[in-house]
Amino acid sequence: MRQRFWDRVPMHKMTPEEWEALCDGCGKCCLNKLEDEDTGEVALTRVACRLLDDQSCRCGQYEIRKTLVPDCIRLTPQSMGDVAYFMPETCAYRLLHEGKPLYWWHHLISGDPETVHEAGISIRGITVPEFEVPEEDWEDYIIEEPGT
Ligand code: SF4
Ligand code: SF4
Repeated sequence: MRQRFWDRVPMHKMTPEEWEALCDGCGKCCLNKLEDEDTGEVALTRVACRLLDDQSCRCGQYEIRKTLVPDCIRLTPQSMGDVAYFMPETCAYRLLHEGKPLYWWHHLISGDPETVHEAGISIRGITVPEFEVPEEDWEDYIIEEPGT
């Protein structure tokens, strides 16, 4: 990976390796959201996708996730314009798309993949799996986005 690529390489010119390395491992994009049909307001819940590992905050089947969870969103430089607005506020892809810098706790800055957890940004240990909670009860699990 090129030195400080996140600061100087446009997203569409990043290599696949650089693109993947942008993910901070917070896991917040793997939580289910509820959208108010009337207002369009989106609320975050702590009900997690069935494939999320609540400790590593990573997808348990990343390579084949689209087969198992067809509506999982695959981020690409091309799709950012459409999806950035509903990604977590601290998501590295959203930050760069909006021209903002990465936070100190991002592993590319800190050099340590644990800092995203230590800083209270990730969803480690706070989720419930979606197969344990009926969808009509998800509103009981609404949370504020961790770290914001
Ligand atoms: S919200 Fe962004 S940075 Fe966090 S896990 Fe999802 S894609 Fe990665
Ligand atoms: S399939 Fe994997 S990457 Fe997609 S939302 Fe679920 S846990 Fe996250």
